[in-house]
Amino acid sequence: MNLRKRHLLFRLIIGVLLLALCHLLSLAQPKTYVPVLCYHGFSDDYKSGRGESYERFETLLKFLSENGYESCFPEDVVSNTKLLEKKVIFTFDDGSKSHVRAAQILDKYGFKGIFFVIPDRIRETDERFLTRGEIQLLAEHGHLIGAHGFQHKSMVDSVLELKASQESSKKILRTIVGERQHTISNFAFPFGYYNNQIVKQLRHEFKYLHTVNPGYWDGKSILIPRMLIDSHTNMEFYIDYIRGNTKFNPTASLVTEDGTTSDIVKFALNSEISLDKIELFSVSRDTSGQINVSHPLGNNLSLRENILEVNIKNHLRRYYSPDRRVISYALVSREDGAIKFLTCGHLQWVTQ
Ligand SMILES: [Zn+2]
Repeated sequence: MNLRKRHLLFRLIIGVLLLALCHLLSLAQPKTYVPVLCYHGFSDDYKSGRGESYERFETLLKFLSENGYESCFPEDVVSNTKLLEKKVIFTFDDGSKSHVRAAQILDKYGFKGIFFVIPDRIRETDERFLTRGEIQLLAEHGHLIGAHGFQHKSMVDSVLELKASQESSKKILRTIVGERQHTISNFAFPFGYYNNQIVKQLRHEFKYLHTVNPGYWDGKSILIPRMLIDSHTNMEFYIDYIRGNTKFNPTASLVTEDGTTSDIVKFALNSEISLDKIELFSVSRDTSGQINVSHPLGNNLSLRENILEVNIKNHLRRYYSPDRRVISYALVSREDGAIKFLTCGHLQWVTQ
């Protein structure tokens, strides 16, 4: 081997070693997952049972601000290689008129949010929804505008809703926010309902698809989990959720297709966990009327090798109304009373 060839070989070996080192370093760097909050309407009345009260919203923002938290957008999470420990994404669904005041509270604490409006319900005369001018104002204040379907119909049941969401939603919002946000890159599924086919079609139009699956976002998946906020749930639970991102480690991953119709759901476990600790958390109201609640899976759980099988049909029959056929869930365990998230997803099943 002549000197030139040796030199080339030496450079090649150094290159390979450097690549391997970079790979090891990226593996060694702890992943950080971002909590994502999902609000609907706001009111002054604590007990109205719908959405959240302005007072509780401000209390949480004050707490987060005092504890060094900052808001961010999906784009920041994707591009930021630094640790994202004290970051939160705020999202607001349905284009409610009450979001005008909610945005003022966000502005007061220096936070920004994503406002998902229903393109077909932007009215100048309807007291319930934001007007074009109000949406423009939100964008001017640095908030993002996203699409929430087209008419707010379940896309699993309506082909027209999917088609209009693909063809019209973005165009309508662009004419409102204009040059300020020429890409409308965020989309939230009406009711959080989706399946694989819907995801495949929408991913050509939108970069980020927001669900109501309770969990954390890794900055990689096109599907963004979100924690649904409800005024009947203790604030401590939401604080635990926000803080829990540093401890989050996706212990289980779905083997069964997400958004599928299935009675048995399979998960691959990548670390050991005691079966009797595993529960199913759901944002849906159970038969006792509770929301954001978790129930032990008990006998409806079995482990073969590292594959966890959940008889979801039996479990849901026990705790949920028989006419419910869609659920956004998280597989969780409990540690010192606090819920620890393992993974999350969305299911539909056939009722008989
Ligand atoms: Zn909605």
